[in-house]
Amino acid sequence: MMRIGIDLGGTKIEGVALDDEGNELGRERVATPRGEYDGTIGTIAQVVAALEQRFGGPASVGIGIPGAISPATGVVKNANSTWLNGRAFDRDLERGLKRPIRLANDANCFALSEATDGAAAGSGVVFGVILGTGVGGGIVINSRIVEGAHRIAGEWGHNPLPAPYDDERPGPACYCGRRGCIETFLSGPGWADDTARRTGRRADAMSLADAAVKGDALAREALTRYVDRLARSLATVINVIDPDAIVLGGGLSNISALYEEVPARWGAYVFSDVITTRLVRAAHGDSSGVRGAAWLW
Ligand SMILES: [Zn+2]
Repeated sequence: MMRIGIDLGGTKIEGVALDDEGNELGRERVATPRGEYDGTIGTIAQVVAALEQRFGGPASVGIGIPGAISPATGVVKNANSTWLNGRAFDRDLERGLKRPIRLANDANCFALSEATDGAAAGSGVVFGVILGTGVGGGIVINSRIVEGAHRIAGEWGHNPLPAPYDDERPGPACYCGRRGCIETFLSGPGWADDTARRTGRRADAMSLADAAVKGDALAREALTRYVDRLARSLATVINVIDPDAIVLGGGLSNISALYEEVPARWGAYVFSDVITTRLVRAAHGDSSGVRGAAWLW
């Protein structure tokens, strides 16, 4: 049966159709009707209908959303697409699409995609990390998403930065209400803000990374701080779930230096004599979210 995956983003809704073997048949992409709950469901239904018309339906439908359905209340929580919060989005979508659907957090979809046929294919325990405007994560064990009792498994971005130096305490305020969350240091805006505070220089994350590669001393120092914080943050993950592979996605995963420099530093914080954990870049890039949604069936 054909699989359709939907990635519901803040600015666009993307759909992909995969054939029986997981080969990509094609995509549809439309703007997200921001703030419109019924419009969001209607637009997803249009994307599904368009893919089924092009490639021959019916298909199974999986969807990745920011946030999660709370097991306690049955409605969406933690979505930065805030018009979804408090709504029974899965049930409403099933009514709109007239079929059962499967829904998961978008970082979990990312991890599932990379564990299924991406950079971590064949690995038993996989931690997928999104380093972008926010910091998210998902855990896949033996090809299955680990959701957890509160559907927050893998949400390491709101743990405090581990082993903080004095000048990292209490850390920047986070939108979640606490201070010093990993996300406030490792998201693109978080890194840019930290660098601006320390150096007086305002630059976005990718231009900082470029400048560091070109030998700019201030940018190089900023990148080393970023690497060390990422190493500390991933070391605590390794100590808890001991993944075979950690896959990086999101805009900052394009910083090539991370894949050598982070493993060179995380040994200082991991409780093991030898560390074989692979740190790899996402194979499907920005497409992993939508592909992972398709793989929910
Ligand atoms: Zn936070």
